[in-house]
This record gives sequence, C-alpha cells and structure tokens, in this order.
Amino acid sequence: MDWGSNVAYHRFDAVIVGAGGAGLMAAIQLAGKANVAVVSKLYPPRSHTGAAQGGISAALGNVEEDHWRWHMFDTVKGGDYLVDQDAAEVLAREAIDAVYELEHMGLPFNRTPDGRIDQRRFGGHTRNYGEGPVRRACYAADRTGHMIIQTLYQQGIKNQLNFFDEHHLMDVLFSEDGRACGVVTMEIATGEIHVIHAKAVMIATGGYGRVWSVTSNAVAGTGDGVALTYRRGVPVMDMEFYQFHPTGLYRLGILLSEAARGEGGILRNKDGEAFCARYAPTLRDLAPRDMISRFIHQEIQAGRGIDGKDYVHLDLTHLPPELIDEKLPDVTDFARTYLDVEPKTEGVPVQPTAHYAMGGLPTNIDGQVIQNRDATPVPGLYSAGEAACVSVHGANRLGTNSLVDLVVFGRRAGKHILETLKDAEWAPLPPEPEFMAKAAIDRLLQAPKSGKGERIADIRSTMQQVMMDDVSVERSETSLLRAEAAIRELQHAYTYASVMDKSKVFNTDLTEALELGCLLDCAEATVHGALARQESRGAHYRSDFTTRDDKNWLAHSLVYKTSGGLELDKKPVTITEFEPKERKY
Ligand SMILES: Cc1cc2nc3c(=O)[nH]c(=O)nc-3n(C[C@H](O)[C@H](O)[C@H](O)COP(=O)(O)OP(=O)(O)OC[C@H]3O[C@@H](n4cnc5c(N)ncnc54)[C@H](O)[C@@H]3O)c2cc1C
Repeated sequence: MDWGSNVAYHRFDAVIVGAGGAGLMAAIQLAGKANVAVVSKLYPPRSHTGAAQGGISAALGNVEEDHWRWHMFDTVKGGDYLVDQDAAEVLAREAIDAVYELEHMGLPFNRTPDGRIDQRRFGGHTRNYGEGPVRRACYAADRTGHMIIQTLYQQGIKNQLNFFDEHHLMDVLFSEDGRACGVVTMEIATGEIHVIHAKAVMIATGGYGRVWSVTSNAVAGTGDGVALTYRRGVPVMDMEFYQFHPTGLYRLGILLSEAARGEGGILRNKDGEAFCARYAPTLRDLAPRDMISRFIHQEIQAGRGIDGKDYVHLDLTHLPPELIDEKLPDVTDFARTYLDVEPKTEGVPVQPTAHYAMGGLPTNIDGQVIQNRDATPVPGLYSAGEAACVSVHGANRLGTNSLVDLVVFGRRAGKHILETLKDAEWAPLPPEPEFMAKAAIDRLLQAPKSGKGERIADIRSTMQQVMMDDVSVERSETSLLRAEAAIRELQHAYTYASVMDKSKVFNTDLTEALELGCLLDCAEATVHGALARQESRGAHYRSDFTTRDDKNWLAHSLVYKTSGGLELDKKPVTITEFEPKERKY
C-alpha cells in the first residue's frame, strides 16, 4: 500500500497538539519568542471550548464580596477532597489575572451597570466557606466558550502562530532515552503523513465524552491525545472520575447549562416537587453536579421521573421572559429546536449527560506530564486542559472551573516551555518515526479477514451503550466486571475492523476508526480505575461501596498500559489547608 510513502518532516521548538482554550493559551505565551507549531484536527475555532456556555469563574468580587481563598475551598470541597490543594490555590489565585487578561485581549463579557465584568451564580460556588451561593462566574451570555475561543484564535492569528489545521494526531514520539521529541500527524485533506520534530510536545486534545451514548460532547471528543500517550507507557490519572452533568436534553445529551439554574431554574419531579431542596437544603439546585446527577438518578429509581420515565423537568417558567432572552438565549433555543419545548411556558425534559473528564494525563502545576507517584516529569512532555489532570477538579469539577483551568494552566505550561527552551536541544527522533502511524492506517485499510470484518459503527455504538448502562452515574462490581469483559471483547473486534473508504482525501471513515481505537483505550482505563476504587467519592458512586474511604482511597489512581496488561498505582493527594470533611450542602 502506498499510503504515506511521502513523509513530510518539520522542525519546531515546540509542538502543541490541540487548538482549544488550553492549547491556544499555551501557544500565545510562545508566540514571537519561539518557533511553535499548533496542530488541530479541527479548524481551531471549532474546538470544543467554543461550545462552553455558562461562564468562567474568578473571585473578582464585582457584584458581591468574594475571595480567591473561598474559590479554592469550594474547588477542594467540590472535588470531594481529591483535589491537589497546591494546584487549587494556583487556580483560584491566578484565575483573577487570567480573566482580566482575556478581557484585555478583547473578550466581550456581560457587564454590570457600572461597566465591570458581570458575574452570576453557579453550582458549588459559595461565600465564606459554604454559607450560601456567591456570584463568581464571569460570562458572555451563554456563549462564554465561543467568545474565549474566538478571542484566543484572533490572538494566534495576530501573532502568526504556525497552524497545522485539520491534521490528525497519529502518534507521540519519544527518543530512546525517554524524552518527548515530536509527533506524527496525518493531513486530513491529503492523507499525507507529517513528522514534527520538537524540543517540547504539549497534549491539549480535550476530553473523551464520546465513550458514552448520551453526552454533551461533540463528535471530536474522543480522547486521542490521552490515549496515544497512554499507549506509549505514560500513565493516566483518576480516569474513574467522569462527570455526568445533570441537565442534558432528554435522550440527546445536548447541554442545558448550569447557568439556567444559576439564574433561578428549578428541577422538578413528576409531582412538581423541587426535589433538590430535600437532598441539599442550603444550596438546593446549585449543589455540585455529581450530587444533582445522583439526586435525579434517585428520583427516577424511586419512580418519580416525569410520566414514570427516566427524566425530570428543568423549570424556567417562573423566570422573567426578558431574562431568558438576555442571559440564556442559546440553551433555551436548544430546547425549542431539538425537543419542541418552549422553556418560557413548559418544563424542559432533562437527564444526566456524560460531560467532563476529571482524569487524564497527570501533570504538575507547570503543565509537565509526570510519570509516577513521585511526580517525576516526563522530559519534554506537557499537557493542559481537559486532556490533563493537574488535579484541580479531584473527584468532581465545579461548573466554570474548566475554562479557568484552561487559561491558568495553559498559560503556565506555555511559560514553562519557554523557560526550558533556553537550554533544550532536539532529542533524536526514533528510527522510522512514522512507523506506528502507518501501521495503524494500513491495518484499518486492509480487506477484512473472512467472517471477521467488524463494522466500526457497530463497535462504537456497543461500547457507548455498555458504558452508559454499566459505568455512568452509578456503578458496582457486577456492572464494572461486565463492562470490563465487554470492552475487552470490543478491543479484540477492533483488531479485525476495517474501513470501506480507502481514499486519501478527507477520509473521515478512517479518522473515525482511529478515534474509536482511542475511545476504547479511554474506556478501558476508566473501567479499570473504577473497579479498583472500592469507595464512593464525587462522580464515582459505587452502589456496593456507598461511602467515602479516606483511609484507603484518599489517593489518585494511576493506570499504566504495559505489555503484560494494565497496572494500577496510587499517588498521594496534596493537602495544604483544608482537611477532608464530610461534604454537605
Ligand atoms: C456543552 C459544553 C458546555 C460547557 N460549558 C462550560 C462552561 O460554561 N464553563 C466551563 O468552565 N467549562 C465548560 N465546559 C467544559 C469546557 O468547555 C471544556 O472542558 C474545555 O473547553 C476543554 O478545552 P480544551 O482546550 O482542553 O480542549 P478542546 O477545546 O476540546 O480542544 C481540543 C483540541 O484538540 C484537538 N484535537 C483533538 N484530537 C486531536 C487529534 N487526534 N489530532 C489533532 N488535534 C486533535 C481539537 O481539534 C481541538 O483543537 C463545557 C463543555 C461542554 C461540552
């Protein structure tokens, strides 16, 4: 097969894979100071960051008293104390400056009457260490991510970053002595293989929500960068903590932002009861997402879903219509467009939807990927954003804390890369660096072996259903063992799968097949971590171990893919100020 017979070689100081908020924020730090390549399988403004709706948190205190230390506390408590507190401090402190930096780049935030950045409520954000809700989320209507990605991309264009748009990451390269030294990509328009040799490599490829059948994530959310790095022996951390957002549109999973509840929306069961108040008397509908998703799950299990079905209503009918139009225009339009429901007069059917990966590639607070429980950095390898686990979200991320994670830790990673570039050399590429990438393509293009040609779409939909049924809001040993066996079988089937389209030009059949391989790896690590963790914490709720077990599990999980199978280790949690307590809201 002549696929990839021509390989294009490039040399840059740094290569950043991912042009969402995290990748762009890092790249902007290097612009004009180093030669940097930014690789993205999507045209950059189409990155998932553009879909973010509700806001970005920072304790600006513009509309009521707030402090970064309260933000830090909420982040730690929201994450069920699995958060590394040194990282949470950096997040909360630097959020303030990062939001002003975005403002100065031109981001059109909503404003207070006196012209400052307006702020609204979001789940789990409180004043004075939990006394009541606080307005901390800075926002641009319900299109905050769209405004962030446009603003950052414009900065990237202004600074003449070298964009490799619509290049699909195929492999992460390491020199013989273990230094990250580049990546291999496939140009989607031509099928041409590119090797990008670099002194520093950053993975900012976002999350992997497409593992589940009901998800808020776009089709590109397939965990490619995480999976490809994991295949190279780098561990993934805390993968069992995957967040289900409480309010996805029924059956579709499309997100109805928490901003809707921040502006006063209320969840109701079939009796019209505002049930969150029963479970979380202080924060009610603004308790953190892991809890609200579980409340909904419990209401449904108890037969109190609407019409006995597996959804509840998000009620906005009591809100002033002009507030809905001004502050929630997009999300209410989703309800009209996709469910034919008018939120001003009717309850919107919602159910939990797979939303956000708390786990990912483990990093320190400078974005360096680490390889073990002692936090030893992998030389030359960086990660930030949803692909990374720094860990500021612990067992459960608070709403609006992802966007701030991107800009704070994307910026820190970019700055650290710049610093290390002063003394860094190009580590030698491995012999035939494109070998693995070409082998993966060749295998998928081969004719199916008789009787064993599996369809990519079938494997994907089975995986999504298995994960939805057995590894979502609630898990148990029985369901996880079932999922483990099913994923193993699907991985085996994948080795026989092939694609119909053999062409080189925009072969999305092929890219989807490559993505499926990555999704299966992410699913495998998620199940492995979930089986090992015999406790309930944050988004990981085990019906057979219903309480938190700090004695044995106040620790991050590290999963390694080795030639002998998966291995699990534990890494200690960094606790600086806030001792673990029972989480009540
Ligand atoms: C509907 C929705 C609403 C949200 N609302 C909020 C909110 O209000 N506040 C908040 O804090 N968070 C929110 N989030 C979460 C937040 O938007 C994401 O966690 C965050 O934007 C992820 O950013 P990122 O830079 O890590 O990755 P992304 O923005 O997902 O970017 C990933 C990049 O990697 C590239 N990439 C991926 N795979 C490959 C590959 N194989 N080859 C080359 N390039 C590749 C993509 O092209 C893309 O450029 C929301 C999420 C969703 C789904």
